[in-house]
Amino acid sequence: MSEFRIAIVGFGKIARTQHVPAIAATQGATLVAIADPNAAPVGVPHFAGLKELLRDGPEFDAVALCTPPQIRSAQATIALAAGKHVLLEKPPGKSVSEIAPLRAAAEGAGRTLFTAWHSRFASAVEPARQLLAGRKIEAVSITWKEDVRVWHPGQAWIFEPGGLGVFDPGINALSILTRVLPQALFVTRAELAVPVNRAAPIAADLDLADGAGLPIKAVFDFRQTGPQSWDIQFETDKGPVTLSSGGARLIDGDRVLVDAKDQEYPLLYRRFVDLASRGRSDVDLAPFQLVADAFLLGRWHTVEAFEDQP
Ligand code: NAP
Repeated sequence: MSEFRIAIVGFGKIARTQHVPAIAATQGATLVAIADPNAAPVGVPHFAGLKELLRDGPEFDAVALCTPPQIRSAQATIALAAGKHVLLEKPPGKSVSEIAPLRAAAEGAGRTLFTAWHSRFASAVEPARQLLAGRKIEAVSITWKEDVRVWHPGQAWIFEPGGLGVFDPGINALSILTRVLPQALFVTRAELAVPVNRAAPIAADLDLADGAGLPIKAVFDFRQTGPQSWDIQFETDKGPVTLSSGGARLIDGDRVLVDAKDQEYPLLYRRFVDLASRGRSDVDLAPFQLVADAFLLGRWHTVEAFEDQP
């Protein structure tokens, strides 16, 4: 494949901190333009939006859609119609059902659609999957707690409908879980805490299971201060296995098996380039479906108002 020319649409936090360096580190890939109404230029042509990029911009092969999820599927529709390969940041959109038409459009256009679950590319996730494949898992406990003011300052979209609230990070845990446990999982109970002045949960408490009744508990909380927790604990027939630091560390009992530097986005782009070179798509909605089911099954509790400034 000749040079894979990528444009980033939505040039906010994740585009600047992860996508730009990851594209630069990907052999055969080049960032050729960005589209964002307000972002400062970064040395490549800059456009106010996707339509302007397509009308006035340089030739390119693919877009990475790093906009808020509420507008992503509309942009993906336009990009696919223009013959571009499309990487969807997580979550893939604002609803599960809007992804099927995108999948069909990608197939019809012979282009790649990639639902990019970045946490699945964390260093310890694949080793964890392999380790757990040889164990009987008896219980799973997820603790995913972070300070929304630190990680999502000023991102009002996150508490709007379709923004997912605390499930914005929580879906990362679910993307790892659905990767390391091969069997189908489903939600059995959800308690959702929603600030009185917001539309999406700030905390959630979930029970999940598999067909054999494996007990899985998940606690997501955006109100964490101090140390942050992005951990999944597996009780197994040969002792506890812990996947911590968002999937970067793997501990078997008291033995640290993996403790590696973050390589998620370079690996994610390697996958995107590979998919496009083979004319394949990778669309997995399992984590998103679990979030949707938590919303469907959830008991909603109103909690105190949340303001960006404490
Ligand atoms: P963000 O900082 O709010 O960035 C979104 C950017 O999109 C903003 O610059 C926004 O501009 C721009 N935008 C809004 N409407 C647009 C449009 N019509 N066309 C082009 N650009 C538009 O959010 P983020 O943290 O980067 O997150 C973006 C996505 O990446 C989310 O789905 C999130 O879940 C995912 N993600 C985030 C992280 C993280 O740590 N932050 C990690 C992994 C994945 P304005 O601000 O001017 O509206």
